[in-house]
Amino acid sequence: MEGALIARDKVGIQDFVLLDETTETAFLDNLKKRFEKDLIYTYIGTLVVSLNPYKELDIYNPLQMELYMGVTFFELPPHIYALADNAYHAMLAELNDHFILISGESGAGKTEASKKILQYYAFSCPSTARLNSVRDKMLMSNPVLEAFGNAKTLKNDNSSRFGKYMDIQFNSEGEAVGGHILNYLLEKSRVVHQNHGERNFHIFYQLVEGGDEALLRQLGLEKDCLYYNYLTQGECAIVSSITDKTDWKTVKNALKVIEVNESDTSDLFGVVASVLHLGNVEFDPDSRGYASLNNNTELRWVSTLLGVSAQTLQEGLTFRKIETQNDQVFSPFTIDHAVYVRDALAKAIYGRTFTWLVHQVNESLENKDETKMAVIGLLDIYGFEVFYVNSFEQFCINYCNEKLQQLFIQLTLKSEQEEYQAEDIEWESVQFFNNKIICDLVEERYRGIISILDEECLRPGDATDLTFLERLEEKMGNHPHFVTHRLADITTRKTLERGDFRLLHYAGEVTYCVVGFLDKNNDLLYRNIKDLMCQSKNAIVRECFSTMDPDSRRRPETVATQFKSSLLKLTESLLAKHAWYVRCLKSNESKKPGQLDEALVRHQVKYLGLMEHLRVRRAGFAYRRRYDVFLQRYKPLCPATWPHWIGLPMDGVEVLVQHLGYLPYEYKMGRTKIFIRHPRTLYATEDAFER
Ligand code: ATP
Ligand code: MG
Repeated sequence: MEGALIARDKVGIQDFVLLDETTETAFLDNLKKRFEKDLIYTYIGTLVVSLNPYKELDIYNPLQMELYMGVTFFELPPHIYALADNAYHAMLAELNDHFILISGESGAGKTEASKKILQYYAFSCPSTARLNSVRDKMLMSNPVLEAFGNAKTLKNDNSSRFGKYMDIQFNSEGEAVGGHILNYLLEKSRVVHQNHGERNFHIFYQLVEGGDEALLRQLGLEKDCLYYNYLTQGECAIVSSITDKTDWKTVKNALKVIEVNESDTSDLFGVVASVLHLGNVEFDPDSRGYASLNNNTELRWVSTLLGVSAQTLQEGLTFRKIETQNDQVFSPFTIDHAVYVRDALAKAIYGRTFTWLVHQVNESLENKDETKMAVIGLLDIYGFEVFYVNSFEQFCINYCNEKLQQLFIQLTLKSEQEEYQAEDIEWESVQFFNNKIICDLVEERYRGIISILDEECLRPGDATDLTFLERLEEKMGNHPHFVTHRLADITTRKTLERGDFRLLHYAGEVTYCVVGFLDKNNDLLYRNIKDLMCQSKNAIVRECFSTMDPDSRRRPETVATQFKSSLLKLTESLLAKHAWYVRCLKSNESKKPGQLDEALVRHQVKYLGLMEHLRVRRAGFAYRRRYDVFLQRYKPLCPATWPHWIGLPMDGVEVLVQHLGYLPYEYKMGRTKIFIRHPRTLYATEDAFER
C-alpha cells in the first residue's frame, strides 16, 4: 500500500477511476503529471487514454510486448499493448467478435495506435510458417495504403485522408489467419488541389523523389516535384519530417509482400505518373476563346501511360459531343470548363485506383483455407478537423466523427445507464451531452443536410451552391446547432460570410464554405471520358472503369449518401461486436515533443466525454454476465453448484458468490445478470480455478 502511495505521487495514478475526486482539474493534473514522466497512457477502467508525446518512446520494443502478453490490466503500467492483449484473450475465451474504436482529432495519434496494436498481434499471436505470410501482409498493407491515402495537412504530417476499418480474423488456436479492410471516402479533391502548407498524397512525392532514373524516364517524369502543378500548390513539396526517398523503397517492397505483381505495379505507377502529367496539361484559348490543346507533350504522356487515343482524349477534354435525333452538336469548353473536366478525370483515376488497391490488399489477406472463429476489428478514421476554410470534405469527415462519438455515447453512457435501470440496479444518473441531435441534423431522411444537398443536386435547372444554402436556411431556420449569416444574431454575423454555414459540432464550431458542395457531391464524369477509360490499355484503369459502374443508365448515388449508408452499415456491424476504446488526445498544436497545451487538452477531455465516462465507470460495474452464463463458467468452484445446480440460475449465482467470499459492495444482483464492480474481483475468481 505504501509503495502504491509513493508511486502515485511520482507518476500520477494509472487508472482515473482511482482518483480521489472526479473533477476536470484533478483529471488534467493527473494527465500532466504522467505526461511529464513520458507516461502517455492512462486507463479509465479498461478504456485507454493516450496523449500524443510527439517523440519516439522506448516502449514499443519486443521486450515490452513480451511483458504484456497474458497479463491483466492492472499488473503493469498502462499500455496500449495491455488493451490489445485483453481484447485478444477475451475473444479467445468468449469466442465472439471484438473491435477497438480508436478516436480523437486529427493528429492525436489514432493511426500510430492502430499500427502499434497490429504490431503487437503480429508479435504475440501464435503462428505457423504459412501464417507468417498473412502476418507480413497485414503489416505491409499499412505503408502501401498510407502512401496512397495519407498526406501532410496543417494538422498532421501524416494525416489519414480515408477511413479504414480492418478485421483481423483468428482461428480457434488464436492464430491470425486473414484480414479484411473496408475503406471509407478518400479525400480525392487533394489530388488536384492543396491548401497552403499542405501536400498531395505521399505517393506522388515518393515516386518523383525516390524513383530511379530508368523508371522516371519510362514514365516521362522530371526528377523535380516543383515541376508538377498538382504538387506545388501548397508550397511545401519537400518537408524535413517526411522521408519520401526511404518511404518509396518501403512501399515498393510492401507492394511485393501484398502480392501486387510486376505488371500491376508498373500499371500502378503509370496511373500515378499519368495524374502528374494531367495536372500539367494546360489549355490555350482558340480564336474564339475556347479551350484548345496544341501539340501537347503532357497530353501525349497521359495517352501513352493510360494506353488511350491521344486524339480522343484531347477531344474529351475540350468539347462535348451531344447527340440529337439526327445530328451531332459540338459544344466547346471554356478554359475553366476544360480544367474542370481534366481535374475530374485526375480525381476519378486516382480515387478508383485507391479502391483497386484496397481490393488487392484484401485479396492477398483473404483467408482461403482456415476456419475463422472470431475477429478483432480496428477502426482508424480521419479525425475531427477545423481549418481556416472548410469544405465538403471536412463536412464528411466531421460528420463521420459525430457518428463515432454517437456510437461511443450509445455504448458507454446511454445503454450502460439504461441497463442499470432495466436491471433494477440502484443508479444515480450521470448527465451527458448526446450528440444525436447533430447526427440527425446532418443525416435525417428528407430533413437533414445531406437530403437537402441531394435534392439540390437532382433539381434540374438553376440549382447552385447558393440555392443549396438558401434551402438549408429555409429548413434549418432555428436549429440550435446550425447558423448562417442571415440567421445569426448581430455578433455572430460578423464572423460569418454570406456563403457559409456553421455547425456546432460536439467537438467545436466549424464554418463550412458552400462553394463546391454540389459538384463534389455529384462527382460526375462525362460519359465519353468514362468510355475512353474503359478502353484503357492500363489494366488497372480499365478494370476500375469497366467494373465499377455496373448500371450506367441509373444515376449513381451521391457521394454524401453513399458515405452515409456506408457509415450506417459500419455502425450496425460494430454494434454486434464487443467494444474496446482508445481515446487519443493531442498534446499541442505545433507538433512539439513533450509540450502540453492545457487548454487544448482540457477541451478534448470535455468533448470526448471522458469525465462522464469516468463518472459512469466509477459508480458503475465493469463486468456483467447473464446468470446462466456466469453459473456455467464458475460452478466448478463451489460444491453446492457443481456439477448441477437445481433451481434458478440467479439463486445458484448467489450461493456461488457467497461461497467465493464476495463482499456486498463488490457486486449487485440485477434482474437477469450479475454485475461486478471491479474486474479484480473476477480475476481473483478466475485464479481460483488454478488453486
Ligand atoms: P489523422 O486524423 O490526421 O489521421 P491521427 O490521429 O491518425 O491523425 P497520427 O498520424 O497517428 O494521428 O499521429 C500524428 C503524429 O503524431 C505521428 O506522425 C507521430 O509523429 C506522432 N505520434 C502519434 N502517436 C505517437 C506515439 N505513440 N509515439 C510517438 N509519436 C506519436
Ligand atoms: Mg490517421
